[in-house]
Amino acid sequence: MRDFHNLSLKCIKGQPINDVVCRTLAEIGFPADAPPEPQETNSGYCKFWKKLSDTKYYVCGRIETEYIELLLKTKSREESFSIMLDRLSFYDITSYDLTIDLKYGCVFDITAEDAETLLDEFIYIIKVLLPSQLSDIYYSFDIEPNPAYAVFYEIAVKRLGLERYTNISQNNYHQFVSHVQDGIKERILRGETLYSIYRNTCATKEIIKKTFLEITDTQNNIGRIEVALFSLSKKYSYKPNISLSEDVSTFDFVVYENGIPVIAIDYWGEEYFNLEGNPYINETYDDMIELEQDKDKVCYNKNITHLQIDLRELDKGMCVGSLIRNILKNPSVAERHRIERREYFSFARATDDCEFNRTSFETATICGCFECCNLISPKDIVEWDYEETAICPVCGNCSIITDSQGYNLTEEFLKKINIMYSYSLPVK
Ligand SMILES: [Zn+2]
Repeated sequence: MRDFHNLSLKCIKGQPINDVVCRTLAEIGFPADAPPEPQETNSGYCKFWKKLSDTKYYVCGRIETEYIELLLKTKSREESFSIMLDRLSFYDITSYDLTIDLKYGCVFDITAEDAETLLDEFIYIIKVLLPSQLSDIYYSFDIEPNPAYAVFYEIAVKRLGLERYTNISQNNYHQFVSHVQDGIKERILRGETLYSIYRNTCATKEIIKKTFLEITDTQNNIGRIEVALFSLSKKYSYKPNISLSEDVSTFDFVVYENGIPVIAIDYWGEEYFNLEGNPYINETYDDMIELEQDKDKVCYNKNITHLQIDLRELDKGMCVGSLIRNILKNPSVAERHRIERREYFSFARATDDCEFNRTSFETATICGCFECCNLISPKDIVEWDYEETAICPVCGNCSIITDSQGYNLTEEFLKKINIMYSYSLPVK
């Protein structure tokens, strides 16, 4: 595929239509273009169409397409014109008629050389801008419609051998079957963000999201965060792996509101937690926060909210989108979120950890029940719920956690969990 540099394509998705100024291909930086559409009407043009009614040529763009195909083959305007005239002589079409038609179709003045370049341009447009149909180019980028563009678009589709939907009664008629998704997939695999694909192609947010979810693992938490950011409203954008200061490491994502950074997000993935899901570094959530102090400071100085999203909350199905939307409305939500996560890692996670925890008893030296608040020896656990969840030999509840799950178990600690747990129970 021929590459075109120095293009100044401008995505107009979501812009109010009154602000949009249409540009021709030449104005965008493409080397060849079709002449503009004639403004004046010509009565000869109507007569020409009358002569062709009920024939196979009574189809918009058909003659122009055949003519351009001839021009690409013969590389001669005169020869192409005379072959075309010959084909139409049966219908009483004169040289004058054909000239008018080709002029109205904006292809008459195109040289053989320009025709070749225009074809390359449309191959590039289809492959890079990923339209599902011609009008997508007009709607997504500020390109002015021109009848010759439809001609070159159709020839380019044919050359590329792209499959299209053929059921005329369906909404997707004449759209590409898989070209757009294939193009999005390729861009994602090259590491491009969903937002960048949205800004640089004709693809809609829906199809980009759908394609992304098709090719990514549901366990891909960083991907889930990105989808949430991508789904925010138009005034927000985001970039991955952004450095806000030379002194601190990069943030996984920075969210921008009208181009100004507002939230810096870090994902605390598996490298932050051990197999039981406890913070690795010096064992407490506060220690982990402490290590992030420099990043906090940078964010504070720049008036940016610093948010950590951890693997355990994502695994539990937390909705990243609503958390981020709430923070955008009220930045103090991030601080509250941090307090909640600290409480979770200190106490509340026990309510998750007491379930399906049989393997942790293999290495446990002590366990405890946060219902009756007794410390119990692992060998005293003899009953299991569904073979997987320990049942307390004292009170009969499934509320047992072990030291091998990262807890420093004392009766006092169990009582603290008990109080937290009782508070968090739904009010009946
Ligand atoms: Zn108990």
